[in-house]
Amino acid sequence: MTPFLPQEIIRNKRDGKTLSDVEIEFFVKGISDDSISEGQIAAFAMAVYFQGMSVAERRTLTQAMMHSGHVMDWSGFDLNGPVLDKHSTGGVGDKISFMLAPIMAACGAYVPMICGRGLGHTGGTFDKFEAIPGYNTTPDFKTFQQVTAQVGCAVIGQTPAIATADRRVYATRDITATVEAVPLITASILSKKLAAGLEGLVMDIKVGNGAFAETLDFAEQIAESIVTVSPIPTAAVLTDMNQVLGHAAGHVTEVKESLDYLSGAARDPLMHEVVLALCGRLLCLGGLASHQKAAEQQIEQALASGLAMEKFAQMVSALGGPTDFIERTNHYLTAAPIQADVYVETPGYLQSMNSRAIGLSIIELGGGRRVASDAIDHRVGYANFAKVGDFLDAHRPLATIHAADQAGFERAKAQLLSAIHIADGAPKSSGMVIKNL
Ligand code: URA
Repeated sequence: MTPFLPQEIIRNKRDGKTLSDVEIEFFVKGISDDSISEGQIAAFAMAVYFQGMSVAERRTLTQAMMHSGHVMDWSGFDLNGPVLDKHSTGGVGDKISFMLAPIMAACGAYVPMICGRGLGHTGGTFDKFEAIPGYNTTPDFKTFQQVTAQVGCAVIGQTPAIATADRRVYATRDITATVEAVPLITASILSKKLAAGLEGLVMDIKVGNGAFAETLDFAEQIAESIVTVSPIPTAAVLTDMNQVLGHAAGHVTEVKESLDYLSGAARDPLMHEVVLALCGRLLCLGGLASHQKAAEQQIEQALASGLAMEKFAQMVSALGGPTDFIERTNHYLTAAPIQADVYVETPGYLQSMNSRAIGLSIIELGGGRRVASDAIDHRVGYANFAKVGDFLDAHRPLATIHAADQAGFERAKAQLLSAIHIADGAPKSSGMVIKNL
């Protein structure tokens, strides 16, 4: 590869020049082989933050980062459906992957989903799957592909072998106030997703006080950039994250809510709206449905027939989890010793909630990490969380707190009560889907 000086590439970007393909490829290679320092990555990220990148530069950066690690090939698997996936920018109570992967498998797609750990105030799907005893979240690629091909879906955790360069770039951005650079967000997300050999991708870009993108403008910038840069059919759905998604937040509590959703025992209509929107777009992108309405019928059928639930059960046992996980969920998921309701002091309608504060309170309960090496207490979190617009009084609690001890319960109770706003009139209800791109 043509030798460059990293500082000259940084200088070019700092001065607003367009980087050539070879400059970008050289820089990414240096990130992977450690010949480029953390300080140089930081300066590069800051230059991109201020100067931006053209679509062509973003494409090259995405491809270079994708090829910095393992890239999956499905040609030897003789699949009879498209390889599709979803990525969410993260939220509080975001358990959509638990439902989307088996639903898509039941509809004829193959979903090799590689997901991340909790980040900031948001929980991670990776950590939630670790609540299932025996479930292998880090199988080798051969097993991952075999399970995906055999069941139709496999959800596993992020590994450094995928888009290797992203690990250093992300860690440096995290400590240098450059996380928000849209070209870098684009390359970071897409490189990891595309490495799974996808044929279609739907992005769930969450917007609101519990989301990475708090404003509509920022969410739109991310969505437009990803849809434009992605080399495969890609759609983006902007969804509301101004309240906990569904009724549960945590790990065990979210796994249980997902199973209730799949079985039909309880299905929050707002969460269902998000599932229909995302699965529907993906079925259309993958050519499995001709239009959104037809896709939604297929999704309802996958749920009503029990096939989506069956796919979930098959995935759990194929990845080492219990073969009777669905039948004996309560036996396998350890319950928190304290489970008690929290009530508002003055009756009224739930107007709004600070979802970010609620997500942070789960970390304080022990359900998240303060430092990377922290172990997670999967038992803690919230269930039965009220929705905005619900009338709360001495009979209808705000939520059921699952805590490891009484002190944790009391702290979480105070934090929840200060994270919500109650008033006399019912607030206007709005849908979950804000925009489709
Ligand atoms: N999630 C990622 O994986 N990367 C980003 O840059 C932002 C969110």
